[in-house]
Amino acid sequence: MMRSLLFANWKMNLPEESFQEFVAAMRDLPPAIEVAIAPPFPFLSEVREAIGSADIALGAQNCAEKGSGAFTGEVAPSMIRRAGGRYVIIGHSERRTLFGETDEVIGRKIRQAVNDGLAPVWCVGEDEKTREAGVAEVLLETQLRGGAAAAGELPAELVIAYEPVWAIGTGKTATPEIAADAHRIIRRTMSQLRPGLTLRILYGGSVTPENAASLSAQEEINGFLVGGASLTSRKFKPIGAALAAAAGSTKKVD
Ligand code: PEP
Repeated sequence: MMRSLLFANWKMNLPEESFQEFVAAMRDLPPAIEVAIAPPFPFLSEVREAIGSADIALGAQNCAEKGSGAFTGEVAPSMIRRAGGRYVIIGHSERRTLFGETDEVIGRKIRQAVNDGLAPVWCVGEDEKTREAGVAEVLLETQLRGGAAAAGELPAELVIAYEPVWAIGTGKTATPEIAADAHRIIRRTMSQLRPGLTLRILYGGSVTPENAASLSAQEEINGFLVGGASLTSRKFKPIGAALAAAAGSTKKVD
């Protein structure tokens, strides 16, 4: 049985407390929860050091679609691995909207990351207009099919984060029902694209200690990708505790 995943995306920010204090606070969450931290690139090694022997994974927030070469400013997945990384966030909505990443680019990044031994956290999600137009499902399928086509062969294990753009950093969280519905669509689509896939689907978008329990209660939700509330263990840890409480009750992650 795979563990629920609690993933911190610090974006271009640093936490309120020191890396050591943050890690120390997170290390006593129950083992049913896997914790991962994605700091900005220059801090990968420092956070790795702060993690020490704790059961906490390191991730990056982005990677190049190439293995090496003349790509000024880019960071190859193999370099993230060398710095101790296990995960890499790919296709975050900020990368899509601010940096023009298409499903094709995202698919190529997934392929390179997997080739270089990183586990992608593949982000998908609709914007507000798409949801209001009632075609969120179509967009999710397009993102998944487009990314998968460019990625080629997908690994046997994958993490996908459902992050509705209208909920990211806005304080507007998806209702547990909206999130569960989207997760079902993602799971159904991926079972067609990659039969036999072991898939964890995270929800991301204004997750807080206040809404974490009701979201965690949805069996379709296998963890959280957290931005703002991951910048202090005061908020991040109770989110993990809510996830752990749900994982300890009836929830199964395949
Ligand atoms: C994110 O950046 O992935 C995110 C979900 O941010 P926030 O939790 O701040 O909405």
